[in-house]
Amino acid sequence: MFPHLSPGDATSGTLPTPAAGTRLDPWLGAYADRAHAMRASEIRALFAVANRPEVVSLAGGMPNLAGLPMDVIGEIAQRVIATQGATALQYGSGQGDETLREQILEVMRLEGIHAHPDDVVVTTGSQQALDLVTRIFVNPGDVVVAEAPSYVGALGVFRAYQADIVHVTMDADGLIPAALESTLASLASEGRRVKLLYTVPNFHNPAGVTLSAERRPQILEIARRYGVLVLEDNPYGLLGFDRDPIDAMRSLDDEGVIYLGSFSKTFAPGYRVGWAVAPHAVREKLVLASESAILCPSNASQLAISAYLSTCDWRGQIKSFREMYRERRDAMLGALAEHMPDASWTVPDGGFYTWVRLPDGLDAKDMLPRAVTARVAYVPGTAFYADGQGRDHMRLSFCYPTPERIREGVRRLAGVVAGESELVDLFGTSGGDGRDGVQTPGPDLA
Ligand code: PMP
Repeated sequence: MFPHLSPGDATSGTLPTPAAGTRLDPWLGAYADRAHAMRASEIRALFAVANRPEVVSLAGGMPNLAGLPMDVIGEIAQRVIATQGATALQYGSGQGDETLREQILEVMRLEGIHAHPDDVVVTTGSQQALDLVTRIFVNPGDVVVAEAPSYVGALGVFRAYQADIVHVTMDADGLIPAALESTLASLASEGRRVKLLYTVPNFHNPAGVTLSAERRPQILEIARRYGVLVLEDNPYGLLGFDRDPIDAMRSLDDEGVIYLGSFSKTFAPGYRVGWAVAPHAVREKLVLASESAILCPSNASQLAISAYLSTCDWRGQIKSFREMYRERRDAMLGALAEHMPDASWTVPDGGFYTWVRLPDGLDAKDMLPRAVTARVAYVPGTAFYADGQGRDHMRLSFCYPTPERIREGVRRLAGVVAGESELVDLFGTSGGDGRDGVQTPGPDLA
């Protein structure tokens, strides 16, 4: 049927035997090498069940949009189309709308960044910016250094471009400068080419920690000395609970850092608008790479966000998000202290996540099916490493459920950890996720 294809996958030369009921991919032998590194995580199937309403999901990283004034945002969208429709529904600039780029400067000033609108490239979420940066810098086999643990969606991008990911240890103050130094020294001594240091300095996903102000210049100095470009991914920086933001790494070094920002957590992810700020020459490559991927970011989304920023109290909205997430963080940490005293966890002062270490001998990945059956879900730590570490950890998200549901979820989780959970047959029952028509991304990805 496909005479131009020889059977067999690219690595083994033979076709794997399909499991009963699964369909063989007739194009298996045709994929590019990089496609073999793209795999759905093995825990994804479980999340079809975890998304059901009876399960408390502490897994997903979906922002909680309940506090947004939907009527006002709806009116803004309607007005954008009615008054600027010919622009909003047309192709636009590959670099992004100029007015929005100026407004983005105002957002970034809150974290000490002073840039020019020409320095900003608007992207389809910061996820696309991660893809573009990796595409223009990383050859197969190049090393990307990332925190241990690291954002699963970034690891997926690095893998897709066949990077070698090397993790560096963190503590409660974020990436440890001495650990970075010794990793870069040993990679240099092996003659390895390190292209990027990927870091989430604020309210880390998944670790919940923040890189201290004191360490920021130290990390930059080490990266500079080893000739490594820093990729600073900062979607959560304005979501601190107890203090003003720490100045971004980019504010300390505009030649050695590519900064990524996003409206996904401070406004809403649905418009898919993020941005990159890069050194001049890099920015030109980013625009070319973006044009070849998508021609231009959505004008309709950009104009809607621009109108939101110019007509609504976006700073006030961020303040109310911070209060909402703080209340949820308190509910989670309180419930952990009450129900899981033998575990340990990080204490996030912003963002969406805490990183929990299980009591000795427990394996978060093995435990997940049992947890889902006890109607609670989390993401096992292994998802956040490129090398199989993390079995004794899990990421718990406090962003989405109500404080009551968070407390109930932790109570159920404690039962699973103690081996005393009340199990319910969710796998045998039929039906959708209880929210027909609503499709959410694999929570392991967000
Ligand atoms: N970076 C980090 C650390 C994230 O947590 C996320 C989303 N969960 C992203 C990037 C991507 O966000 P977006 O594409 O919606 O801007």
